[in-house]
Amino acid sequence: TDPIHIIGGGLAGSEAAWQIVNRGIPVVLHEMRPVRETDAHKTDGLAELVCSNSFRSDDAETNAVGLLHAEMRMANSLIMRMGDANQVPAGGALAVDREGFSQAVTKALEDHPLVTIDRNEIAGLPPAEWDSVIVATGPLTSPDLSEAIRGLTGADELAFFDAIAPIVYFDSINMDIAWFQSRYDKVGPGGNGADYINCPMDEAQYNAFLDALIAGDKADFKDWEASTPYFDGCLPIEIMAERGRETLRFGPMKPVGLTNPRNPTVKAHAIVQLRQDNALGTLYNMVGFQTKLKYGAQTDVLRMIPGLENAQFARLGGLHRNTFLNSPKLLDPLLRLKAQPRLRFAGQITGCEGYVESASIGLLAGRFAAAERLGETPVTPPVTTAFGALLGHITGGHLVDDAAGSRSFQPMNVNFGLFPPIEIPKEPGVKLRGTDKTVAKKKALTARARADASAWLGGQTSVAAAE
Ligand code: FAD
Repeated sequence: TDPIHIIGGGLAGSEAAWQIVNRGIPVVLHEMRPVRETDAHKTDGLAELVCSNSFRSDDAETNAVGLLHAEMRMANSLIMRMGDANQVPAGGALAVDREGFSQAVTKALEDHPLVTIDRNEIAGLPPAEWDSVIVATGPLTSPDLSEAIRGLTGADELAFFDAIAPIVYFDSINMDIAWFQSRYDKVGPGGNGADYINCPMDEAQYNAFLDALIAGDKADFKDWEASTPYFDGCLPIEIMAERGRETLRFGPMKPVGLTNPRNPTVKAHAIVQLRQDNALGTLYNMVGFQTKLKYGAQTDVLRMIPGLENAQFARLGGLHRNTFLNSPKLLDPLLRLKAQPRLRFAGQITGCEGYVESASIGLLAGRFAAAERLGETPVTPPVTTAFGALLGHITGGHLVDDAAGSRSFQPMNVNFGLFPPIEIPKEPGVKLRGTDKTVAKKKALTARARADASAWLGGQTSVAAAE
């Protein structure tokens, strides 16, 4: 059998390689380190963790990333097996000894008879004779390969920064204060003139918000991040605030074209808009609110916005160096580049975020590529699973048109907002409220996910066993 080529031996590439060789198919894994370094990696090990040593929560019942851990373990994940084997104490989180973890992943792949590791940079499009390639080169994809990918996708479809605006759970927004309306009631594609949620501020509230924003604790830019020239197009709100007290009022917080139905005669001094972020309508992003505020400061400041006083965040804002594709437009449901289907993408470059998420997309890409090589029809995981929810974010309908007709796709960690909602069975005489209700919902979602993941994997195993 011809090998499948994987470019990038990070979290995603290593997991993809493992999944493929476990179906009996050879792999050539091309990793450029140590021949060529990135700005963040420090070793030549595969699956190096560039920053924190945590895989985050390991709670598979009430936490979305914990659920992803569980699904990956069911799917014989190398990253999870070596993570578990190199665990260090961290309460409810799964944290690992980074050296031991990376060495164990490297050894498992080096020792496998079907794996060839090629320590070279792939500095352009892979040779035409490679008929099945997984590109898993991560947030710091080398410049020459990035350029080649841009040549295929168009310059606007491969970003070098993620400018992430905070994303709020809809059910935590106080709709007694906020209201639905599009600016000038404009009806955009698929909209009805009431596509945005609006949070009004009077002058005193605006001034207090501005002061808190300017005083808030900010995360630093690394030298190599600050020197990347894409910064001016997506200024963080606190920088806008520092540039002048009216800058935000003429930018993302402009109050024009909107009327508060509860106070129609008084013009709001400033308005924060939120835009639907997923097809289900459970998540809303804060329009133009990318920020470098540290997480603690960020929640404090954002909860000063009327209507968001109890906001729960599916993700907080940020601004990082990150290479990622406009995947919902470019990739098919099996993670193949529509323009050149021999190229499949995996890991953070597809628009997921985090070690475990990246590895899980590597796992799926590996399974899809292996099934294809064996002449099977790959089956995507159900949308009710963490695998399926994350894949849906990447390849599915996660793009939302804004009023100006532009589309937004930003990387995301796995979170419960990506799952189809679930009704919790009512027990006679029991009325759940508040936290109890939220926990019960999460437990129901994760139980459904684990059962559906198991059925999906069971189906796949029986296909493999039948060969
Ligand atoms: P990587 O793990 O980065 O793997 C990509 C591999 O491809 C690298 O080994 C690279 O050397 C190689 N490569 C690149 N270009 C080429 C080429 N042309 N030819 C051959 N090889 C190539 N996530 C968290 O969960 N927690 C954190 O604390 C965290 N901190 C981060 C800090 C920084 C500075 C950055 C940049 C990211 C951080 N992330 C964090 C995100 C994290 O990097 C990713 O989640 C994860 O490593 C991505 O996995 P990946 O396999 O897609 O990419």
